[in-house]
Amino acid sequence: MLSISDLVVRYPKSKENAIDHVSLTLNKGEFVCVLGKSGAGKSTFIRSINRLMQPSSGLIKWDGTELTTLSEAKMRQVRTEMVMIFQHFNLIPRMTVFQNTLTGAFGHRPSYKNLLGLFTAEEKRRGIEALEQVGLTDHADKRVEALSGGQKQRVGIARALLQSPKLILGDEPVASLDPSTSRKIFELLKKIHEERELLSIINVHDVNLAKEFATRIIAFRDGQLIFDGKPDEVDDKM
Ligand code: ADP
Ligand code: ADP
Repeated sequence: MLSISDLVVRYPKSKENAIDHVSLTLNKGEFVCVLGKSGAGKSTFIRSINRLMQPSSGLIKWDGTELTTLSEAKMRQVRTEMVMIFQHFNLIPRMTVFQNTLTGAFGHRPSYKNLLGLFTAEEKRRGIEALEQVGLTDHADKRVEALSGGQKQRVGIARALLQSPKLILGDEPVASLDPSTSRKIFELLKKIHEERELLSIINVHDVNLAKEFATRIIAFRDGQLIFDGKPDEVDDKM
């Protein structure tokens, strides 16, 4: 489903490869956690899959389509199937939970005037449904600033759900949350993952969280893939 061959990603002016000749195939249904120390290449790996970061060489095939050479217009279409969940939530300040949920998801540009007028009744219905799934219906009309970290990430997840994703990419989605909230966010992601039979690829700092939730763990060191296996095979120092 997602097949990566000999991927190299190097930042301009850098002497080292941030991702260094990585090959692997990830399948639908797998909940993959990505481990590695800070600077190991986790974020670069995630961002090269949806081409927020342009790979230097190698191939990425998603459902048979080669992504590294796809036009930006076609890539935008592909990105509707690949949603990204960020560490810092990427919410739009001063807008409500409901506005944030709808705005990112349907690709309308944020507007502070008459915002909900932009959305069709069907989009609003789906927005409410997404907020139900993440447990935020009671907070729909609150400004996002008023939310806790865990609630903010739930808004990010609700927005992602509206795109009917096939692939969820998580770039340290719980790195700024406390352990108990992190666990709840992983529970939610896993539940959505299972209900929708997705492929999920999620960077995480905490080995224990990865071991508890992942069906497969991969780990990077200095841009190289140093582990690919089952959670119970993971060495705690990874
Ligand atoms: P991780 O997510 O595991 O912390 P990153 O993917 O952020 O790792 O970083 C991998 C490597 O790429 C590191 O050596 C880092 O310093 C380098 N790097 C990351 N972002 C940039 C950038 N914008 N410019 C140059 N080098 C970068
Ligand atoms: P925090 O602890 O930072 O407030 P949580 O992630 O624990 O954030 O919860 C965020 C919101 O989601 C809360 O309003 C809570 O009532 C709701 N919530 C928590 N767990 C669930 C769940 N399993 N199902 C539905 N809603 C939930």
